[in-house]
Amino acid sequence: MQTVDEIKPCYPLFRDDDYKASLKNKQDLFEERHPAEKVQEVFKWTTSKEYQELNFKREALTVDPAKACQPLGAVLCALGFEKTLPYVHGSQGCVAYFRSYFNRHFKEPISCVSDSMTEDAAVFGGQKNMFDGLENAKAMYKPEMIAVSTTCMAEVIGDDLNAFITNTKKAGHIPEDFPVPFAHTPSFVGSHVTGWDNMFEGIMRSFTLNTMEGKVVGSNQKLNFVPGFETYLGNFRVIKRMMAEMDVEATLLSDPSEVLDTPADGEFRMYSGGTTQAEIKDAPNAVSTILIQPWQLEKTRKYVENTWNHEVPKLNIPMGIDWTDEFLMKVSELTGKPIPESLAKERGRLVDIMSDSHAWLHGKKFALYGDPDFVMGMVKILLECGAEPTHIVCNNSSKRWVKAMEKLLAESPFGVNGKVYPGADLWHMRSLCFTDKPDFLIGNSYGKFIQRDTLHKGPEFEVPLIRIGFPLFDRHHLHRQTTIGYEGAMQVVTTLTNAVLEKLDADTMGMGTTDYNFDLIR
Ligand code: SF4
Repeated sequence: MQTVDEIKPCYPLFRDDDYKASLKNKQDLFEERHPAEKVQEVFKWTTSKEYQELNFKREALTVDPAKACQPLGAVLCALGFEKTLPYVHGSQGCVAYFRSYFNRHFKEPISCVSDSMTEDAAVFGGQKNMFDGLENAKAMYKPEMIAVSTTCMAEVIGDDLNAFITNTKKAGHIPEDFPVPFAHTPSFVGSHVTGWDNMFEGIMRSFTLNTMEGKVVGSNQKLNFVPGFETYLGNFRVIKRMMAEMDVEATLLSDPSEVLDTPADGEFRMYSGGTTQAEIKDAPNAVSTILIQPWQLEKTRKYVENTWNHEVPKLNIPMGIDWTDEFLMKVSELTGKPIPESLAKERGRLVDIMSDSHAWLHGKKFALYGDPDFVMGMVKILLECGAEPTHIVCNNSSKRWVKAMEKLLAESPFGVNGKVYPGADLWHMRSLCFTDKPDFLIGNSYGKFIQRDTLHKGPEFEVPLIRIGFPLFDRHHLHRQTTIGYEGAMQVVTTLTNAVLEKLDADTMGMGTTDYNFDLIR
């Protein structure tokens, strides 16, 4: 029972006898549960090879997808531009989900509006919603740009954003010259990374497509960087830091690192930082455009190559030593600026860290899942440390990505046990963790279910989760870390090694029996 003098958080509270009795009552009266033995029997069956074969034959059902939907990515992209309000044309519930998803991950308020289409809009189309929605959003929240994406509902009925926005302006709801870039983001294809790519192209198109006259590649001497769907705030900062150390003028095209990390000083900032409209307009004048996560930026690549006439360098995500080397050498080649001693020293520190830790990581098996570029970069770091990636799940990958991943695995002796599962979900991963147990699982918070289930079978079957990815709801502030560059590799190696040591401690806690590995004396 809760009392004013002793307010318990949920975990101890739900262990109180009256709560236990209430829960049992609910189960007995309303849940029509199967007997506990039957539940255990089915659980055991779901851990078998036989079940795995059936599981992998699944066609029309996704269970616990390792991805989110397109407009979620579009919202993140829009948040990276100065004084920009993300606006989703469609259902209100979807937008509540996007806001709460980001809110739980970043522990920040997320500004994003919806024009709340309901049944009548689904029948007659959502133009009226857009008339009112754009007018109200502009009047209430005073943005300098509104970036529109769509939910499934608007896409299913075929609402035409271009026509609706033009009509909204013609009808005088918002001024003709007010920027309203848009992207159709149907969630029945692609994922959050496709949505990011679509929205980015929509914003670039809106500011540069018809104003290319007078633009000269290289005339502003800057380099553009396009992050793609990126949720590690440290990754935006590390690019800026590395470029500052190289004395390279860099434009980060979509930079939400300020608005997603505002200080608690009594002032609410709906907008903070972000790429300015002037920077977008100037972007075609850059020397080149580097795509930080190239596998998820196909549309962006085409736009930048065809409209801005930029030669987009063929680079991988700069994760680990090799790919950060290649990234920095390319920047140096494009700008003529040498790689400074400070970055060479940082690289040396990473090599030192890897040498110190590789003995703990060598031969350890890691299953992992996430977005295409992140997964590939993570595999690269594992291979560089002599760790073995085994089950590699990437729901939103392409055939070309699978080939590139298989090539990467084939190039290392530590990649021989690696198998790639494109289009798979976390229920597939669960089967794999039971039938061919890795030492650890790397991914977002949803891997916690797999850890719980494997532990339920018995402590020797447990696959601990290392939380790197998106979303991370059940731990705090990990999103402020870095995964790219030498700095990012140092943080990733630190996280992985300490997970191995934590597990070792947990396995050797027996006093006077298994505590021989404490690495301490007193
Ligand atoms: S998948 Fe479609 S319906 Fe579901 S949240 Fe995303 S946009 Fe909304």
